[in-house]
Amino acid sequence: MVMNVKGYAALAVKEDLVPHSFVRRDPREDDVVIDILYSGVCHSDIHNAYNDWGGAKYPMVPGHEIIGRVVHVGKSVTKFAVGDLAGVGCMVDSCQHCSACEQGLEQYCEEGNTLTYNDIDRHDGLPTFGGYSDKIVVTEKFVVKVPEGIDLRGAAPLLCAGITTWSPLRHWQVGEGSKVAVVGLGGLGHMAIKLANALGAEVTLFTRSPGKEADARRLGASHVVLSTDPEQMKASANQFDLIIDTVPYVHDLNPYLPTLALSGTLVLVGYLGALDPFLNTVPLILGRKSVAGSVIGGIAETQEMLDFCGQHGITADVEVINIQDINSAWQRMLKSDVKYRFVIDIASLK
Ligand code: NAP
Ligand code: ZN
Repeated sequence: MVMNVKGYAALAVKEDLVPHSFVRRDPREDDVVIDILYSGVCHSDIHNAYNDWGGAKYPMVPGHEIIGRVVHVGKSVTKFAVGDLAGVGCMVDSCQHCSACEQGLEQYCEEGNTLTYNDIDRHDGLPTFGGYSDKIVVTEKFVVKVPEGIDLRGAAPLLCAGITTWSPLRHWQVGEGSKVAVVGLGGLGHMAIKLANALGAEVTLFTRSPGKEADARRLGASHVVLSTDPEQMKASANQFDLIIDTVPYVHDLNPYLPTLALSGTLVLVGYLGALDPFLNTVPLILGRKSVAGSVIGGIAETQEMLDFCGQHGITADVEVINIQDINSAWQRMLKSDVKYRFVIDIASLK
């Protein structure tokens, strides 16, 4: 069975995405084939297509916040049947036997997980292509169940923005009485506010954008601090058990460290690379504070997060777009002008 797929791809670095037809692999015994309904637009899609992280392979079909319906299941598939709703996030495979995989932390697979796009399938050596397309083929191990009744457009971003913020909230045991701060109100930031709030934390937003205060409060933040105002930063000293920093580009972490409480942690989920300026260790050492990092979440944890969102009625705030508008959507994201996640209606491809 040759599966012809329509999508949008970057054909070269920093070029606009264009319509692109390609072929998906024949489904294997453990594969499900998903007709994609909605695909979220993550800042990582831009980083990848612009080769900010190196290793970009073109044509690149981005997209790792995928919601759709199962249209075919392989012989050995047990979790899914034709007609089921299904979700796929940032990874589609891992080695399944290293210590990270055995703990259900496939995102930290010691052999490297297989990313949903811009990667190479570990079985057939063919490139992987993401969710800016009308179909995807994925082993059922990396497909999650989408709660019935959830708004599907708002659910798509849970597959990356949701799990990337959920995982540190759970790892650092955020709950009633916790004080959490979020740096940056974009796709990840707005999910971090919603999820931390639903877990019972008191939430503060650090933002460079004065215009985002009312939205932050509506999303669940009790306090908003303008990070460009040294007086407001000073007034936030010794507060937070956990700071989730979603800023995509290099920035100075030093102003945030004094706002951590004793033994608090600032976890980076946005910027990948060397820090500039250097970190001052004084507030770390004198307050037993940590700077940490975290990447997406495991498959079981992703299912836990989706079930939690289903129970609590949590979805992303989305602007639904046609795929023909993807290039202007990316330009708006680069200006931090999105409320708070673009989601592509894949019906627009047909
Ligand atoms: P986004 O929607 O573009 O939001 C980023 C927010 O950061 C902006 O809205 C803005 O908030 C703030 N910001 C942007 N540029 C800034 C700058 N130069 N200095 C300070 N603040 C800045 O992006 P996203 O989709 O949430 O993704 C955020 C980052 O997380 C990206 O780098 C992405 O690649 C990464 N990511 C990581 C993982 C992981 O597993 N660790 C998963 C997904 C995404 P304000 O206007 O409020 O300041
Ligand atoms: Zn993402």
